[in-house]
Amino acid sequence: MNNQIEQFDVIVIGAGPSGSVTSAYLNKHGLKVLVLERAVFPRFVIGESLLPLSMGHWEEAGLLPDLMKQNYAIKRGARFIRNGVVLDLAFAENFTEGWTWTWQVPRAHFDKVMADTASAAGVDIRYGHEVTKVDLEADDHAVVHARCGDKTMTAQAPFIIDSSGYGGTLVSLFGLKDEPAGNDRMAMFTHVPETEEHRAGYKDPMQISFEIVETDLWFWSIPFSNGSTSLGFVGHKRHFNAIEESTTTSEAFKKMLKTQKGFGTRYDAPEFIFEPKVIRDYAHYNEKLHGKHYVLTGNCAGFLDPVFSSGVAFATNSGLLAAKLLLKQRAGEAVDWEMDYAKPVRDGATVFKTYVETWYTGDLHTIFFAPELTQSIKEQIVSVLAGYVWDKKNPFVAKHDRIVRTLAQVVRMEAGGTASAGKLDAVTAAFANGNGNGAHTPQDESKDQLTGAKA
Ligand SMILES: Cc1cc2nc3c(=O)[nH]c(=O)nc-3n(C[C@H](O)[C@H](O)[C@H](O)COP(=O)(O)OP(=O)(O)OC[C@H]3O[C@@H](n4cnc5c(N)ncnc54)[C@H](O)[C@@H]3O)c2cc1C
Repeated sequence: MNNQIEQFDVIVIGAGPSGSVTSAYLNKHGLKVLVLERAVFPRFVIGESLLPLSMGHWEEAGLLPDLMKQNYAIKRGARFIRNGVVLDLAFAENFTEGWTWTWQVPRAHFDKVMADTASAAGVDIRYGHEVTKVDLEADDHAVVHARCGDKTMTAQAPFIIDSSGYGGTLVSLFGLKDEPAGNDRMAMFTHVPETEEHRAGYKDPMQISFEIVETDLWFWSIPFSNGSTSLGFVGHKRHFNAIEESTTTSEAFKKMLKTQKGFGTRYDAPEFIFEPKVIRDYAHYNEKLHGKHYVLTGNCAGFLDPVFSSGVAFATNSGLLAAKLLLKQRAGEAVDWEMDYAKPVRDGATVFKTYVETWYTGDLHTIFFAPELTQSIKEQIVSVLAGYVWDKKNPFVAKHDRIVRTLAQVVRMEAGGTASAGKLDAVTAAFANGNGNGAHTPQDESKDQLTGAKA
């Protein structure tokens, strides 16, 4: 055997949330884990609004106590603003039992804390190591080559977990099928400094908030406890003409900022901590999430959209699930990576996809801002937005593909757009009782509810 090849039980590519959770969990269960990370931490990455679902993952991986010490801003829900009307959704109103709060964090700091905790527990993390080649040919192990400056290193392990995020290392090395979502949406964002005095001039200054600027353009404000705030726009590319019309992205971002009204004068004279960044074509999915000696987790597996902040939650969820299945496989138990891994990962993403799509068509806005939005509907939707997208007891999960569109239609069909609370609850009850099934179109469903045919 070549002495130059280092031996591990598992090699993880990438030390983002997915890589940290998966490596920490496997290390905690006795595996010798190598993480190869291209960047040197701290490194910037977007994705600062977290979901309660991830809290349980950090807890299981042993990362939670250190994260708890960091004084990150607590996120107990989210505020949505449209035409000056405010809707507050609170995770405490969860339909599904689970964590009811999380954080809003500068990811450079947050990811470093996770990686440092994993490293202190025994995970071997090599920063500045870019995986450039992987050999999956052998029957009992994979060989991974990495470059670090002008040096190279080689390691082998029976299994590789690719958590390399947008990098999609195995996807690009092996030309695995990676479908772009093709929705023509893009994002532009930056951080601004905010003094306490400045924040004090505004109501609920630490509240994470999203303003609907146009049906398919929204603005985020994510205040951090470190005295900076993340600001960003996401939407169809036609709303970003300011970029072509400006000489710098700072100038373009300042023009865009004038389109938001929900924050008063708060962001009227922004200084930017970094030149605003522009990202396009981030939405994609992979059909094949596993293969001989490997599995893809986190963003590598797919990414839907920034709205509702599902990226990190899916990254930690898939990372933890992959780690648990690998332990099972190593213990000699049968693992069907398609049914046990790919299916649940896709099922969760499919539920979320409905909420992303109906956000951009405006259906979800219609429900959010329906004057008679009931407490029980709120709770069921909040549960989805907290990340609990596998709870089939929730009709907004089990019947996600029809219930949102039907409900929006019911709200719209009522004169003046104000459906009664009783009617909205009747629609969801019909879905919960199974009456929302069948060959009906959403249009039929709405009519049935309105005429009382099903409720
Ligand atoms: C505009 C925008 C806004 C977003 N907002 C949110 C949000 O508010 N909340 C949220 O939850 N999500 C958000 N996301 C999604 C979020 O960015 C990702 O889902 C999340 O970072 C995925 O985590 P990960 O661990 O899979 O990958 P990453 O965090 O990207 O980590 C992957 C790591 O792999 C390393 N790597 C890559 N290639 C290699 C290689 N060849 N060798 C070694 N290392 C490598 C990278 O350096 C990186 O550190 C947003 C995304 C976009 C585009």
